[in-house]
Amino acid sequence: MRKFRLLAPGPTEVPPQVLQAMARPVIHHRTPEFEALFEEVRRGLQWLFQTRQDVLILAASGTGAMEGAVVNACSPGDKVLVLKGGKFGERWAEICQAYGLTVIPVEIPYGKVADPAAVGEALRRQPGIAAVFATHSETSTGVLNDIEAIAAVVRKTPALLVVDAVTSLGVVDVPTDDWGVDVMVAASQKAIMLPPGLAFACLSERAWAAAGRARLPRYYFDFLTERKSQAKHQTAWTPAVSLVAGLKVALELMQAEGLEAIFARHERLAAATRAAATALGLTLFAERPTPAVTAVKVPEGLDGGAVVRLLRDKHGISIAGGQGSMRGKIFRIASLGYADAYDVLTGIAALEFTLAELGYPVRLGDGLRAAQDVLQK
Ligand SMILES: *Cc1c(COP(=O)(O)O)cnc(C)c1O
Repeated sequence: MRKFRLLAPGPTEVPPQVLQAMARPVIHHRTPEFEALFEEVRRGLQWLFQTRQDVLILAASGTGAMEGAVVNACSPGDKVLVLKGGKFGERWAEICQAYGLTVIPVEIPYGKVADPAAVGEALRRQPGIAAVFATHSETSTGVLNDIEAIAAVVRKTPALLVVDAVTSLGVVDVPTDDWGVDVMVAASQKAIMLPPGLAFACLSERAWAAAGRARLPRYYFDFLTERKSQAKHQTAWTPAVSLVAGLKVALELMQAEGLEAIFARHERLAAATRAAATALGLTLFAERPTPAVTAVKVPEGLDGGAVVRLLRDKHGISIAGGQGSMRGKIFRIASLGYADAYDVLTGIAALEFTLAELGYPVRLGDGLRAAQDVLQK
């Protein structure tokens, strides 16, 4: 018998109530029944995004909403500022480059936090920036950026602020309207406790006005077309009906817990994971860690890929290794979405076994005790 567990930063585990809702017979989407469901999830998403604006629901992975944000915010020839501190910041740059935009990068060393003053300085040096693209929780390095401070800097200029909140929404406080973020994007398979397949985009009034002027080519991700349909509780194209049915239940679970409690739970689980890693003699990678995922440096002499493989193949636990140039240098343990204290403790216990099996000097239980000390508080 093998039992598998997802402790990776997406996809994450899905609650049984949500799985059950998605297993129900598929309904037709051009029906009053679907419209009632859609109206409810649209309201729930406004609560989650802390916004009065529409939150568009797209059938795509998170990258689809990112591409949508670019094509609805920009026009050919636009100059954009991209905060590049990891794989997902680099993805913003790649999408912008694919559409021929002029990308001005703000290079942030991996593991370091974006400096809002450096963003302000870049905006001063480069007048006429159309949009700034940032990553709130940089999943690839485990860093949480200070979007509130970055938004305050960008707000002093005419540039739009576009933020990837894929692993921060439902993890830490993301007051979209209060911070003045113009486009906030998220996806289903991280903290929202759904399988992959839905992406979300929330636009400010300024961003909607910009979308009306934006001239990059777009079709599937034309947010104006989508907004018209979604205002009538419909979608422009066939929605991922079963995922929307699951989303209703996932949002109900989140609302029953409450935003403050959700944020506190993620912080507590991540603090326990960090304490365990430190107690095992490991070093954390992120300067300002996101509660979504804990990035741990692979110690000298240990094969980082082997940690991930052994955890998966022998212990049935999926964590994540490093991406791109971080491959083999870090591994990442998530405590994201449908995760509790026992997921953390199980993950730490299995990590201790794995490290011991790979010949790294650990005393079994040191990590667990440190995690339990945090969780007991
Ligand atoms: C997972 C993730 C995405 C979305 O990636 P997809 O594979 O397209 O869903 C985007 N940004 C961040 C920070 C992520 O963690």
